[in-house]
Order: sequence, then C-alpha cells, then structure tokens
Amino acid sequence: MLSAEIVAVGSELLTPEKTDTNSLWLTERLNEAGVELKLKTIVGDDEDRLSEVIGDALKRSDIVIATGGLGPTEDDITRPAAARAVKRDLVFHPELEADLRERFRRWGREMPEINKRQAYVIKGAEILPNPNGSAVGMMFERNGKLLVVLPGPPREMKPMFEAHVNKRIRERSGDVVVSRRVLKVSGMGESAVDEVIAPVYKAFSGVQTSILFNKSEVEVHLSAKAGSNDRAEAILNDLSMRLKEVLGVSLYSLNGESLEEVVGSMLKERGETLALAESCTGGLVSMRLTDVPGSSSYFLEGAVTYSNEAKIRVLGVSAETLAKFGAVSAETAEEMAAGIRRSAGTDHGVSITGIAGPDGGSDEKPVGTVFIGYADGHKVRSVRFTFPGDRYLIRWRSSQAALDYLRRRMIRSKAGASEGR
Ligand code: AMP
Ligand code: MG
Repeated sequence: MLSAEIVAVGSELLTPEKTDTNSLWLTERLNEAGVELKLKTIVGDDEDRLSEVIGDALKRSDIVIATGGLGPTEDDITRPAAARAVKRDLVFHPELEADLRERFRRWGREMPEINKRQAYVIKGAEILPNPNGSAVGMMFERNGKLLVVLPGPPREMKPMFEAHVNKRIRERSGDVVVSRRVLKVSGMGESAVDEVIAPVYKAFSGVQTSILFNKSEVEVHLSAKAGSNDRAEAILNDLSMRLKEVLGVSLYSLNGESLEEVVGSMLKERGETLALAESCTGGLVSMRLTDVPGSSSYFLEGAVTYSNEAKIRVLGVSAETLAKFGAVSAETAEEMAAGIRRSAGTDHGVSITGIAGPDGGSDEKPVGTVFIGYADGHKVRSVRFTFPGDRYLIRWRSSQAALDYLRRRMIRSKAGASEGR
C-alpha cells in the first residue's frame, strides 16, 4: 500500500484561531484511493523548516502533499521551499504572468508586481491550473516519489485535487481501495460493545475496526481494503449486518447518521409527530431535532419549562405532584410528557427533567439524576438515569437519552403493533 504525508503550511495554522481542515479532507481522498496517510506536519511560514520537512517527507513517503503558502506575499514561501527540497530551480512562466494580468483586468484592477511570484514553477513540474484563485498548483515526480503542492484555501485546493491529482494517485496505487463506515451505538458502554462485537469483527481479516466513545454514544469505525470499491463495500455490508445482529436495537445507525437524524427519519416514515417538554436540557433536544432539515414535518413543538410554575401552567403538571415528588421525579416527568402531548396534539410526547449540577443534588437524587418521560396514545411511562460528568455532559447525555428512549419506544410499538397489540 502506498504511503503518504501531508504538509500543511501557514503560521496561522499554529495559532489557536485556525485549524488545518485541508488535511482531514485530503486524508479521506487518499484513503479512498487506497493510500495510507502515515504522517502530517504543520509548518509555519518558515522557508528553511518547510524545505527540510518536504525533503524528509519525500525520503519517507511515496506521496507528499503540501497545501498553503502559495500566495503572492513575502510570507508565502512554499514555492521556493519546495524547489529547494527537490533541488530544482524555479522557472518563470510568462504565460502564467499573462494569465494573472488578465485575471486582474477582469476584476477591474491592475496586477500588483508582487503577484509575478505566482508565475514561478519548479522546473519540470506539471502546472495545476486554478480556476478559483490566482495560485497555480504543482505536481512533481522524482525517483518514483510524487510531490504535490496545492493552494491553501479549501475552495481552491479541493477542485484542484479532484481535477488533477486524484487520478494520478489512483493510477499509482493500483487496485487497492479503502472504504470506511461508521456504526453508532447507544445505551451500551465501549467495553460492552467490544465484548459483543469482537468475535464478529476478528473474523474479518481485511477490515480494520476501531471503537470510540464519543460523549454519549459508541462509534464503531470500519475500514475495509479490497481490490475494488464494490468489493470493499460488499465486505462492509456483510460485516455491518453481522454486527447489527449481535448489537440488536442498541445499534442505531449503519452509516454515521446522528441520533436526531435517525429519530427524525423514523417519525417521518411512520407519519407521526412529536412534542417535547424540556427542563434541565433547556431546549437542547429541540435544537438537535431542528438541526435536521425537514424536521418541521414531525417536530411540532418544544417547551422549555424550567420553573415549577411553568410546568404547572404550560404542561398542566399538578402542584401536588411537584410538592410530593419534586420537579425531578418519575411522576413529574410523566405528567410533563403527557401534558405536552395533550396540548400539542402529537403522537408522541417526551420530557426531560433532571439535576445537571454542580449544585442541587441530594443523597437520594445526586447530580446527574435525570428522568425521561414518554407518552403516546396508550400509556405514559418514564425511565431514570444517573449520568456521570459535568453540567455540559449531563445535559448532553440527557438529550441523547431522551432521543434514544423515543427511538426505542417507537421500535417497541412497531413490534407490538405487528404482534396485534
Ligand atoms: P495561503 O495559501 O497560505 O495563502 O492560505 C490562504 C488561506 O487558506 C488561509 O488564510 C487559510 O484561511 C486557508 N488555509 C490554508 N491552509 C489551510 C488548511 N490546511 N486548512 C484550512 N484552511 C487553510
Ligand atoms: Mg499562508
């Protein structure tokens, strides 16, 4: 398998303000082409260091892709640094200068003389045209190694890669394709997931499996290597289906969808509607649901009923329930869910009430205690959780639990309906 390195150039990428996103996008393209990324480096606008990094990268890796630093100003040093790294001169291309002058004329401006720098290209390199900006890219082969130099702005870099580099890399990598897939699991811990799925994925030798815990869910990342895209996809399909069998309803996505997308698709497919009554999540669940385009067809209403008074007035929770059991209780959660469902006239009503902390906990109900209520046309019910973490995590995990509870209720009611409930 061919190896690659990415060199992201720009002093701004070494500050807390700006992130190197180019390499993420490039990594995906390389993987799709069956090339393994071995290393990435971020270098400031420093010609010596950059030339050293590119030179070293070309010793180690088959393909080196540099992005950024192709602008016309003094701090744009990728051109001379790359030339020095491959021990070639930069040559002036009058036709590139003419192009640049023409480009500026179209903008109604005179080309500043410093832009002439952008007409210099490594001797012997292929010039990669840039329809979206003034900096052309370069592709240079030496001793079987490929050096690609692309502009920094993503909207210039991506089309240039697609148009000129992708094909060349695919030709080199031959018939190796890597396909990836992300499965998502909720309601199970990382180690529990691994225990269940390890016997299955270990039988697939061409697939790399990694398990990651992500705030409130477990992600299973699969990456299959094969001779063709169809073959890699077929392997992933097969493995995903087997993982689905062992994970059961805890597996909620086979293709990286978020829980709000999955819940939204289920509601849409069933032609059903939802209303929410949120307390400790302060509208987070409503926000997540409405992040999904088209959510207006199933999500009708979300009430943030933070105070007891709001729970009574908006949702019709009884003052007695609140006094007797407290705002954070199964009884209150159930009255909240039933109340919002009744007033919104929806198929499903979901509520969240809990103690996000850092204060407000007790021995009986410590910080992290959260009740999710659920009401449909048949029944009202609730479930209690005790989430670890700080206020941010407890609120996030509550939102996840609410969406997952709704998802599981829908799966159940479907099963129940088909059994003639
Ligand atoms: P440059 O090619 O160095 O003039 O970069 C122009 C602009 O492209 C920078 O100001 C950044 O906004 C953007 N840029 C450069 N490198 C990257 C990168 N690795 N990831 C994301 N954006 C980048
Ligand atoms: Mg720069």
